[in-house]
Amino acid sequence: MDRLDIAIAGCGVAGLASALLLHRQGHEVTLYERFPEPQPIGSGLMIQPTGLAVLAHLGLAQAAVAKGSQIERLHGLNQLGEAVLEADYRHLEIAGLFGLGIHRGSLFELLYQAVIDAGIEVRTSHEIARSESCAKGRRLHFTDHAASIEHQLLVDCLGVGSPLVPAGDSYLPFGALWCTLEWPEDGPFNASLLEQRYEHAGKMVGVLPTGRRTEGGPREFSFFWSLQQAAYAPWQEQGLERWKDEVFALWPECAGILEQIAAPEQLTFACYAHRSWHSPVEQDLIHIGDAWHSASPQLGQGANMALLDAWALASALAGEGELQQRLHRAIALRRGHVRLYQWLTAAFTPLYQSQVKLPAVLRDVLLAPLSRIPPGPAAKAMLVAGLAGSPLSKLQLDMPDYEALAAIPSSIATRASSLAQS
Ligand SMILES: Cc1cc2nc3c(=O)[nH]c(=O)nc-3n(C[C@H](O)[C@H](O)[C@H](O)COP(=O)(O)OP(=O)(O)OC[C@H]3O[C@@H](n4cnc5c(N)ncnc54)[C@H](O)[C@@H]3O)c2cc1C
Repeated sequence: MDRLDIAIAGCGVAGLASALLLHRQGHEVTLYERFPEPQPIGSGLMIQPTGLAVLAHLGLAQAAVAKGSQIERLHGLNQLGEAVLEADYRHLEIAGLFGLGIHRGSLFELLYQAVIDAGIEVRTSHEIARSESCAKGRRLHFTDHAASIEHQLLVDCLGVGSPLVPAGDSYLPFGALWCTLEWPEDGPFNASLLEQRYEHAGKMVGVLPTGRRTEGGPREFSFFWSLQQAAYAPWQEQGLERWKDEVFALWPECAGILEQIAAPEQLTFACYAHRSWHSPVEQDLIHIGDAWHSASPQLGQGANMALLDAWALASALAGEGELQQRLHRAIALRRGHVRLYQWLTAAFTPLYQSQVKLPAVLRDVLLAPLSRIPPGPAAKAMLVAGLAGSPLSKLQLDMPDYEALAAIPSSIATRASSLAQS
């Protein structure tokens, strides 16, 4: 295969994974990032079997599991204490299977360190404004009016606000406040669960264990509170006490952890866009990860999708044909799975985040009870694991060796004991 000079724009999950995979194929890779020091942006994440399969090929799965927290099931109760979100990985009957709750900083650090160790060039403090098609490929233009050399291929991994994709107003009304807190060692939460509590679909509070960022450091979790964009400014003004009362009313067991929140600035507001760019391939340019498609994180797939996109790109570039054909092949490898999850996420999000009560009523009285009837439990587990649409076989990726991975002492190793509690 020909050796290409490739520019990768953005040091997020998609950019770092692409850089590693393409560098290993022998391409000359340069990463461009706006920040002076590349850094993770955003809350804790769930890494599904799809994303972990790519990390396994990068040789990073074991380290990720060691830093994260093994999640056996998703468990959400409504205001009446009824279970209305239940997805248990064990229903897939794959020995040892789990979802991985991980701090975004831990995942970033693993990928970034591997990039540095591989000797890949990272050009920081380069904020990209646009790209230009030229004789030999693509040139990047930066906000300080400087420009890059011409690269034969540009991979856009600039995330949901990529300036290389036309901006659209696709932000959803609901987002979430989130923060990282110390895991309460003496309860009341269950470390093998991603837990949520809802009042219809208008209020939601969630706890995602994310493991331990540093050896010997505290165990942590991501704490979420669903909030409409329009309600963010009033929330900032109202003061913490009224909000804490609301959280407490919805999930009284949160009283202890709320003491860790002393100022509104500890919480970050994240909003989500639901969009997919219809032309992910342009001349000598491909958009992957959130730059191509993004959705609400209700099903926890975005970073996993970004990892799969990076894998598809590397696989397609290793194949035959003109560069443009190979880029189209990369998109073809992913398009079905991306479309399926875009659709599923659009369908599921209003059940958990909506001002209107009807979707939550349907969820509580119809969907939740029906989904307990086989094959409902296995279907839910497959959906959450990112495996609907069989993305791994399409990409010739193996399922990670979960039996071996499950044996790794995880940061919050409570798999067996937690089951008894729940
Ligand atoms: C609250 C929340 C919870 C989430 N939970 C999950 C989850 O549980 N599981 C999951 O899989 N996904 C989750 N996601 C989605 C996930 O975060 C994204 O899908 C994923 O980060 C996309 O990766 P990316 O590499 O495409 O983009 P990003 O991670 O956004 O990376 C983009 C990179 O480009 C850089 N950049 C941006 N603009 C410029 C510019 N102009 N010039 C130079 N550099 C630039 C940024 O600094 C960044 O480094 C969640 C998202 C949110 C908001």
